[in-house]
Parts: sequence; C-alpha cells; structure tokens
Amino acid sequence: MKGGFTLWFFPHDRTPPKALYVSAKAFWTAVVLAAVLLGAFAFHTVGYYRKSAREEELRKLRAERNELLDRVASMGRRLRELDAHMRELMAQDKALRILADLPDLGDDLRVVGTGGPAVRDSGSVLLSPDALATLEDVGGLLDRLLRQAELERESFETIRRRLAADKNLRDHTPSIKPCAGYYSSGFGMRKDPFTGRWTMHYGLDIANRPGTPIYATADGKVIANFYTRGLGRVIIIDHGYGYRTVYGHLRRTFVRRGQKVKRWQKIAEMGNSGRSTGPHLHYEVWHNGRPVNPINYIFTEDRTLLAYRGR
Ligand SMILES: [Zn+2]
Repeated sequence: MKGGFTLWFFPHDRTPPKALYVSAKAFWTAVVLAAVLLGAFAFHTVGYYRKSAREEELRKLRAERNELLDRVASMGRRLRELDAHMRELMAQDKALRILADLPDLGDDLRVVGTGGPAVRDSGSVLLSPDALATLEDVGGLLDRLLRQAELERESFETIRRRLAADKNLRDHTPSIKPCAGYYSSGFGMRKDPFTGRWTMHYGLDIANRPGTPIYATADGKVIANFYTRGLGRVIIIDHGYGYRTVYGHLRRTFVRRGQKVKRWQKIAEMGNSGRSTGPHLHYEVWHNGRPVNPINYIFTEDRTLLAYRGR
C-alpha cells in the first residue's frame, strides 16, 4: 500500500465493518481541492464586502457631488440677484454721470467690464458636462460681476471727486446778494454824483438803513480791512478761483485781515463812510484781475433765501 491508507467504518448496528481505501493521490487531491474551495470562498467573501464598501462609498460620493452641484447652482441664483442689483447701480451711475457732466461709460464697457469675456475651462476631464456647465455659468457670472464692481467703484469715485470739486468751486464763487436793500446804482458808466462827470462805476450799490447786515457772498479769506477817502471803510475778500469781492462805505466790520469767512457770514454793517451820498453798500466782484458786473453773481435762489433771512 504505497502512500495510501484505509479508512474503517464501524456501523453502530453491528453490521460488519466497511473498509475504504484512499490512495495518496486521491487524498492530496481532496486536500488541494478543499484548500482551493476554501480559498475561493474566502476570496469571494472578502471581495463581496470590499465591493459593497466601495458601492457605499460611491453612493456617498454621488450624494456629495449632487449636493455640491445643488449648492453651486444655489450660489448661481444668488449671484443673479447680485447681478440685478449691479444693473440698478449701473443705471444710477449712468444718471449721476449725466448730472456730473461726465461722459457715459458705454453699455459695452459696462457689460463686459474692463477685462475680456471669461475664459472657458474646457480642459477638465474630471467634471461631467453638466457639472462643468454649472461651474462655468457661476464662475463666469462671478468674474463679470467682479469686473463690473471694480468699474463702478472707479466710476463712482470719479463722480464723487467731480462733484466735490464743483462744490468747492460753488462755495467759493460769489453768488448771493450781500445785503438786503434796493439797487441804487448799477455796474457801468454813470455820471459821478459828486463831480457830474461820466465815470466808470465798478460796483453795484445797494441802499438800505445804516446797520443793515452785510454778508460774505462766498467762502474766502479777508485780505484787506482799511479806510480810504473814496470808499470809506472797505473789506476785500479773496475767494480763490480768481474771485475777489469788495465791500465799501461800511459802518462797522466784524472780521480782521487774514480771517477765513463762510458765505452768509456777517462781516459788516452798512454805513455811509467815505465819499457817499447816503447809507448804501458799494459791492464789487473781480474775476481774474478784472471787475465784472456783480448782478451776474447774484442768483435768484439766493435772493429768495435772503428774503427768508429777513430784511
Ligand atoms: Zn458804488
């Protein structure tokens, strides 16, 4: 019996024992077969669990991807709301530029902003077409809004500076009647009330009771407060931008040389000082070294304001 063995079976019902001869080859074949079966079973079992784990992971990833896409789409909707606000801002910018007398930016520039259109990201091989479309949509909108926001920021800054500069100019341009009263003599050639000769009258005379308040007609700096035989007590204000105003025949003054004054600031009281035929203010406006007609520097709305201020 070379390499084999015999298995004896002793039945419990006392029937004769049975012998089963097993050759070595059959035994080892059975052992190998059992090992292979066991191995295959183990392999499949582990594989099954691995596969189900991967499937679970894949399911989670898919859910995560869908949620991310949903959230990106939701951001896209909010960006479109922002886009609507931006359009309103651009409309306001357009209106303000007209008010500020600035050239229009042009709709083309407004739509694309200062840069070109967004570069399409078509190189991605990881993203599915729908995900790529959503991301490009949102990314493109975001890029455009950023460029538009930058453009509008610059435009509003230009408008602000322009309006601020204009306000400064307005504040320093003579533009109100310096006191209440009636115009007794205008700017131009007239017969001198003392000599009777035709002479140039460089100012506007406003007559009223002595002590009538005299206001600075624009913001500026007092550059002179002196007395002359002709104009009596005189105040000169330099307003910048080439403007100066002169106030003559004053009774009392409330400002000194070098003092800064604001429009509507009371600087003096009407008087009759100097060569004057009666209480009145002699008011001159100079622009770039030349006398100009003061009546052109008294605007209607300020005359109305003067009325509201009494007297
Ligand atoms: Zn005069």
